[in-house]
Amino acid sequence: MTRAGEAARKESKAESKDAPPRYMPRKDTEGNDIWNGQRQGLGWYPNVKKEMADSKNDGCQVQGNNCTDEAQSIDHIKDFATLQTDLPRYVVCDGKNHFSAAYKEDARDLYNGGNTADESDINTSNFQWSCTPCNSSKSGKKGLYENAPQWIEPCPGEDCEYVPRGEETT
Ligand SMILES: [Zn+2]
Ligand SMILES: [Zn+2]
Repeated sequence: MTRAGEAARKESKAESKDAPPRYMPRKDTEGNDIWNGQRQGLGWYPNVKKEMADSKNDGCQVQGNNCTDEAQSIDHIKDFATLQTDLPRYVVCDGKNHFSAAYKEDARDLYNGGNTADESDINTSNFQWSCTPCNSSKSGKKGLYENAPQWIEPCPGEDCEYVPRGEETT
């Protein structure tokens, strides 16, 4: 191999070492879940569901054109796709790489109206009961989430100074 060829080979090798990893990080080095950016897997906290059960008998609160009046699902009044754009993102280390990512716990709390899993004074102001036709006719942007983890750099190993929720990213 020529000298130039050798240099090019080395360079592309270095590049591939610095290329974004192909996996989705699941937990940081402290065991905190990292949010993959998808609504799937967030779900309702039992305490929030229980609080909403009281108003279920009142039926669908959306009252759209094809309303069946049935309270079939809990609906976010302000769409979750919009809400999640304000989630804080941090530098998160999974032991191999650093990512800009949101914690799953934060996403779950937000999904549940800002309530935590052990909250006793539940805020339900962003929730309403909806029938299926009303829910599916909502015009909110669905599935346009941009909080999937983004790779920043390889973890520097021994020099890593990662602290959960230490450094916010934009
Ligand atoms: Zn309805
Ligand atoms: Zn690290």
